[in-house]
Amino acid sequence: MVLAKEREPEQEVVIKMSEVESMGLQEARARADTYHRYHIDAKETEDLWKIPRRFNVKVGKFGLAKLIFKEFFKYFGHWETVFSRPCTYGVFSGPVGGFLPRPDLCVGCLRCEVQHPDFVTVTPNGELRALGDKYLTWQHISTIDEEARKGGVPVRGQGYRGRFGGPGFDGMFTDMSEIVRPSRDGIHGRELIGTQVDIGSKPMHLSFDSSGNLLNQPEMLTIQVPFIYSAPPKDLADDGVFKIMATAAAEIDSMALIPVDDVNRLSLGGANVAPIVNCAGCDVPKGTRMVELRSWNNQAHSELSAKGLLVSVAISMSEDWRSKLEEAIDGGASILHLYADHHGMDGEGGFLMDTLAEAHMSLVEKGIRDRVTLLGSGGVAGADHLPKAIISGLDAVGLDHALLIAIQARLTGDTQNRDSATVQLPKKLDIDWGRQRIVNLSCSWRDQMLEILGAMGVREVRRLRGEFGRSMRCAELEAEAFGDIEGFPGGDA
Ligand code: SF4
Repeated sequence: MVLAKEREPEQEVVIKMSEVESMGLQEARARADTYHRYHIDAKETEDLWKIPRRFNVKVGKFGLAKLIFKEFFKYFGHWETVFSRPCTYGVFSGPVGGFLPRPDLCVGCLRCEVQHPDFVTVTPNGELRALGDKYLTWQHISTIDEEARKGGVPVRGQGYRGRFGGPGFDGMFTDMSEIVRPSRDGIHGRELIGTQVDIGSKPMHLSFDSSGNLLNQPEMLTIQVPFIYSAPPKDLADDGVFKIMATAAAEIDSMALIPVDDVNRLSLGGANVAPIVNCAGCDVPKGTRMVELRSWNNQAHSELSAKGLLVSVAISMSEDWRSKLEEAIDGGASILHLYADHHGMDGEGGFLMDTLAEAHMSLVEKGIRDRVTLLGSGGVAGADHLPKAIISGLDAVGLDHALLIAIQARLTGDTQNRDSATVQLPKKLDIDWGRQRIVNLSCSWRDQMLEILGAMGVREVRRLRGEFGRSMRCAELEAEAFGDIEGFPGGDA
């Protein structure tokens, strides 16, 4: 029985129960103290390039002067009242108070405008709202920026202000009715909620020889979080970004996908980097555990597998993705990486939640679901998209644009296309700074995954895969509730 395991991907420390029984109490205590629970070390990391503020605050100087003059005489002697500010967030607490407000601190509570409508106006900042597009919205960008800065779960303190139901992932609700253990205990570390996932192939049944030795070992690796870092767009071949991805993946024990030429040129090879290759003969660095083939190639797949490498096969979700998927599965591929565009659409206009469910169910129907790992990239723009993509059938999710936003890249133009993007990186991009920003984002998204798992009463993320029964679709609920009402779209006329 395994009692404890150090977080060392290449060198596992296993303590057997029989060893513990023969140990003295002190020795057992010392061994137990070597155990440490997986933890991501988030540290507040200031912006290199400040994201535009959320609100503009305008104060009429004449109105403010009139107020101060009036209050000076009315509350003479009560200086605390005279010098009190209408904003608890410090917008009017600069050296000259409201005469030079600090709108960067404004959270939009509107107290000042309600109290002094005659001379204070608070308006949304159009510069912030111009970021992103209709899928990757300015709210996503602003939230990712905060998560990458602080590494925590953003708390607004004003309740949920988003919409209930909507397009894309907003059309799925998760079932949190089973508030049972592990629940909060799992989130605060008193119990374990596992976020490890396996990438590779597990046998559908176990076979043993006459001596009881296992004949069909799983061919897989384990990462500590249910997400990997997908390669940036092809036209953003920035060495700094590759280094940041590789070092962050090593720190949190995940996997970064990087083109093989860049891996070799920058000496990024290692257990947490999966070079992207298009041939069997590509020079893969020592220590590599997994590679990704740019597209299905039977011969290259066999030759790379024969070298002892796990081989992920990239499948572009273009019009004929189903046939490409079939071909790779029939050819023996054990890791399939499905690439939708950055709005989560396949080539036929289908959204991720449906296409992933279709891919997952096709493996279930063939009776080979555990033999194949499904990875998926594209369209994951927020922490809540992660569990929803896994519920839709993925084993692990590939993060792409979210990583660029975490390092404060500004994306403009067409952000839907997978291969190209207009990206402006911050000047003087620092590797350590970028690594910590991505580690912070990973910590925040893992914590939010723990919240969802805890609320759903699910003990480990592996059990969330394809759990359609624990999710609800807004469209289906509405049709069920209102379908008979005259005028409901698709209902009785
Ligand atoms: S809206 Fe609220 S946070 Fe913003 S300046 Fe006014 S009181 Fe302060």
